[in-house]
Amino acid sequence: MKLKLSVIPITVAALGALLGWAAPAGAATLLNRGHVDIGIGYDAGAFDLHVHDEESDTEYSPGDAVLGVNASARRLTSAGLGVALGLSAGTPLWILPAAQDPELLFLGLGTEELSDSEWSGNLSLTLKGISGPGSVAAWSVGSLGEISVHLNSRDGVNASDRFSLLAGSHGHVNLGFTEPGNYELLFEATGTHLTDGVVASGDVAYAFSVIPEPSVGRLAAIGVVTGWLFRRRTRCASRTVG
Ligand SMILES: [Zn+2]
Repeated sequence: MKLKLSVIPITVAALGALLGWAAPAGAATLLNRGHVDIGIGYDAGAFDLHVHDEESDTEYSPGDAVLGVNASARRLTSAGLGVALGLSAGTPLWILPAAQDPELLFLGLGTEELSDSEWSGNLSLTLKGISGPGSVAAWSVGSLGEISVHLNSRDGVNASDRFSLLAGSHGHVNLGFTEPGNYELLFEATGTHLTDGVVASGDVAYAFSVIPEPSVGRLAAIGVVTGWLFRRRTRCASRTVG
C-alpha cells in the first residue's frame, strides 16, 4: 500500500478535532507555556501589534501564533469572581492567571517599545470582537482582593471592554474563557501621539485555543489515532531506509 503525503496532516487535524481544537491553518506556532506578551509597538506613524515570546526572545505576527490555554487552566468560579463577571459560582472557567504558573501560558501586555514622553495620556487596547464557543473576560485583583474587570464579552462587546495602558509599561492580568475551543479575539490599539495625533491600529486578530480535559472516551480514541499514525510513520521510515 502506498502512503500519500496528505495522510499525515489530515490525521493531525483529526487528532485536534478529538481534543476539541482544530489545527490552525498555516504554520502558526502554539504558545502554551512560559512568559509571552502581547506587544504594542509604534513605528513610522503606525502601530505594530505582535506577540513576544520572552522565553526565546521571538517575535510573532499575531496571525503566526496561537495562544494556548492548557487543560489545567480549568477552575471553578468563586462567588466573588462570579459576581464580578456575571457568572454563577462554580461555573468552569479556563484561566490564564496574572501570577505565573509553570504549566500555563503567562500572558501579559507590553508597551515597553513605546516612549512615555511621546504619548498624551494612556493608550487603550480595546476588545472589538470575539468569535468562539464562549465568552472571555480579563480582570485584576487588588491587594485587598478587590476585582477590577477590564473586559467581559459575556454582556456583549463595547468601548468599555479595554485595557488602559501606560506607554513604556508591562503588566499581567487574569484572562478567563468560559468554554473550551478555539477563539479569535479582535483588539485595536489607540492613543494620542504628541506628533501624529490620535492614532489607531485597526482591528488585529489574536487566536486562542482553550484545551478541554480529555474525557476517557477521547483518550481512547486519541490512542487509536496516534497508534495508527505511529505505524504509518514507522512503515514510511522503514521503506525510506530500505
Ligand atoms: Zn509579560
